[in-house]
Amino acid sequence: MKERYDVVVIGAGPGGLAAAISAKKEGAESVLIIDRDKEPGGILNQCIHNGFGVEIFKEDLPGPAYAERFINEAESVGVEFLLDSMVLDITPSKKVYVTSKWFGFKEIEATSIILAMGARERTRAQIRIPGFRPVGVYTAGTAQRFVNIEGFMPGKRFVILGSGDIGMIMARRLTLEGAKVERVLEIMPHLTGLTRNYVQCLQDFNIPLQLSHTVNRILGKNRVEAIESVQVDEHFNPIKGTEEIIPADTLLLSVGLIPENELSKKVGVKIDPLIQGPFVDEEMQTSVPGIFAAGNVVHIFDLVDWVTDAGITAGKGAARYVKVVKEKGDFVKLVPGNNIHHIVPQYIKRDALINGPVKLMMRVVKPIEEKVWVEVSDGQNLITRKLERYVRPAEMVTLTIPQKAYDDVRKTKELIVSVERFGG
Ligand SMILES: Cc1cc2nc3c(=O)[nH]c(=O)nc-3n(C[C@H](O)[C@H](O)[C@H](O)COP(=O)(O)OP(=O)(O)OC[C@H]3O[C@@H](n4cnc5c(N)ncnc54)[C@H](O)[C@@H]3O)c2cc1C
Repeated sequence: MKERYDVVVIGAGPGGLAAAISAKKEGAESVLIIDRDKEPGGILNQCIHNGFGVEIFKEDLPGPAYAERFINEAESVGVEFLLDSMVLDITPSKKVYVTSKWFGFKEIEATSIILAMGARERTRAQIRIPGFRPVGVYTAGTAQRFVNIEGFMPGKRFVILGSGDIGMIMARRLTLEGAKVERVLEIMPHLTGLTRNYVQCLQDFNIPLQLSHTVNRILGKNRVEAIESVQVDEHFNPIKGTEEIIPADTLLLSVGLIPENELSKKVGVKIDPLIQGPFVDEEMQTSVPGIFAAGNVVHIFDLVDWVTDAGITAGKGAARYVKVVKEKGDFVKLVPGNNIHHIVPQYIKRDALINGPVKLMMRVVKPIEEKVWVEVSDGQNLITRKLERYVRPAEMVTLTIPQKAYDDVRKTKELIVSVERFGG
């Protein structure tokens, strides 16, 4: 593994795989995908049902088979994988901090980063179901992992809350494994998953769906013993007298996914509060230049083929970004601001501060016979400043950018040097 890559992709699900392949094909020389799982493929690895690839391959594939095609392609175009490794943090200057039991802690540098961390399920805490906290309450995706990957049945008699695709797919899966799925409850007056899943997973297996119903209470102290359901009105308020006790030992929650954006928020990517994913442009570039996003991290896709499509766009964008950076040379421009005539050097390498502080030499336009600040900023944020007792055009002014400004300098295109009033 190298220490520096053109493109680093975080997440080896379908979004990340498609982005990495497309970045490589579009000219990025070195592309690395990092995933915390031992195997690439993301959520597809636990989706052993078919229904994947109908748009792109015109075939009805199981999740792992769909993933395998992209894993093979990624390997054949020369994408590198770093698995069983968790990305802890990234910076606007495109440093990626990774940890793994294999190597401890590592810093990897990238020219461009693609965020492809997928989404996580909403839990009981997020929907506030009253009652005890007994064993036997799982998210549908966790149960799916238990059954399809770990080979373990989490219960025998189930109620599922939420008519999302994962819940309906699990209703069928559990039935096929010999469990009884008593009911799927949906608080909305309509189905929230795909109609095809309703037909193939609930109707075909005679599993009842109750719309405008929710869980009122969980009964059972140590283990779930029953679920109390209730009908809701158009404002989602429980309707008194409609409560029903459904004996069950397990409650599965399929109540939505939330884009996984902790890393995105930490690096300063602007998040759309409506969908909890980053604001992106037509290339899937986020508000931080050179950081792109692909897949469920942006918004929740229903079909994996759309995830792949968006991943291809993000990969192209990242490759284009890398090309521009390489063509322009990786320099930051020094721009004369208020009362500065010229600055030498006019450019510094983006990485210049890695070797130590950088000294700037300049002349002012007009004299000021009182205390002033000579300041360096990125246009918005002050990076460093120095107090001068006066400035005169005949006398060269020097100012040193300290090494600790490394991150600030790396993320900007230009540095503005200006003379400002002392009181300001
Ligand atoms: C249960 C279920 C059933 C589905 N059924 C269908 C279907 O039948 N047909 C269909 O077309 N679509 C289906 N979909 C939708 C489709 O599978 C998803 O939209 C798609 O897999 C999302 O891809 P992704 O790459 O965005 O995320 P994911 O597949 O979730 O991949 C994200 C990856 O990022 C990794 N990651 C996250 N954070 C970090 C970190 N900090 N460091 C390192 N790695 C990290 C994760 O380990 C994961 O591998 C289904 C989805 C689910 C959940």
